[in-house]
Amino acid sequence: MKFERIPHSAPMPTAERDAALANPGFGTLFSDHMVTIDYDEAKGGWYSAKIGPREPLMLDPAASVLHYAQEIFEGLKAYKQVDGSIAFFRPEANARRLNASADRLAMPHLPEELFIQSVKELVRTDKDWFPTVEGGALYLRPFMIATEPFLGVRPAKQYKFLVIASPAGNYFKSGAKAVSIWISDYTRAAPGGTGEAKCGGNYAASLVPTGQAFAMGHDQVLFLDAAEHKWVEELGGMNLFFVFDDGRVITPPLGGTILPGITRNSLITLLREQGLEVSEEKYSIDQWREDARSGRLIETMACGTAAVVTPVGKVSGPAGEFEIGSGGPGQLTMKIREKLVGIQKGAVEDTHGWVMKLD
Ligand SMILES: *Cc1c(COP(=O)(O)O)cnc(C)c1O
Repeated sequence: MKFERIPHSAPMPTAERDAALANPGFGTLFSDHMVTIDYDEAKGGWYSAKIGPREPLMLDPAASVLHYAQEIFEGLKAYKQVDGSIAFFRPEANARRLNASADRLAMPHLPEELFIQSVKELVRTDKDWFPTVEGGALYLRPFMIATEPFLGVRPAKQYKFLVIASPAGNYFKSGAKAVSIWISDYTRAAPGGTGEAKCGGNYAASLVPTGQAFAMGHDQVLFLDAAEHKWVEELGGMNLFFVFDDGRVITPPLGGTILPGITRNSLITLLREQGLEVSEEKYSIDQWREDARSGRLIETMACGTAAVVTPVGKVSGPAGEFEIGSGGPGQLTMKIREKLVGIQKGAVEDTHGWVMKLD
């Protein structure tokens, strides 16, 4: 699709931008431009692709996203490579997952090539927006909203797909230090619900439990399964891996209630290549506590695009708390994190075809 280019009349002044890029934080700084593409069933699908200044949207107050939450999103990063070029990590996996989320929320598919073209247009236009801090990347947020004005409960007939970019440093203020997590009484996803879709509604429901975890001094919230409140599922926005002293690794199986993370999928491959036996297997909170206490479980890692691979050091809940290993970052966690980051930055050979160059 041909993108109409709308010139920016007032981009951020260079000095101001460069100062911001030296300390971008996470999710508060945005680049100058955005991509928008409209959809109308009556017009036969997607039309009017634009790249222009990032600016407030005009939405009818009856737009159905504002009432019934037809919204889905993606999160991926563009990385400055060690050779100075720019590349994405598995963007076609994000394109596919957006469409899987669209299926669950009764929204239209966006052709995968158009997704890739959109993120490329934006990164090419805002190529001067890469953070200059160690571990920084340009975080991209593609998302789709229902824009049709009506108050009936049915799928909308009009949508907008957008991509914005946010220069990002480390997700956790503590960097790669081990995080502390809180076992929530709330649940994130019920069988048959929207847990495997990347939709804003899942996050709205996680704010109270996450707020409780923060208020008690923890970094993240852990959700157990909704039916038995027994099986470990995932964190608010990250998947989990459990590492044992005999070379086995477990990650909870996808089954409708767990978000199919692209980092999760990549780690399964990388860990197997290290000779570890990775199984997608249910793991209960009681077993986890017992294995951590006996020393059979030596590491736990959380993973996702934003925070990459993060060690879990301490787990707390109403029934008390337990430490993982010595409570600090585990060896395998740091090794696999380095490998993944190396591939993403082009410092380690990409033997899987995961890295897609911008040009
Ligand atoms: C996005 C997300 C993840 C991580 O997915 P990645 O593709 O690895 O970034 C994990 N859990 C939830 C709930 C998410 O929304």
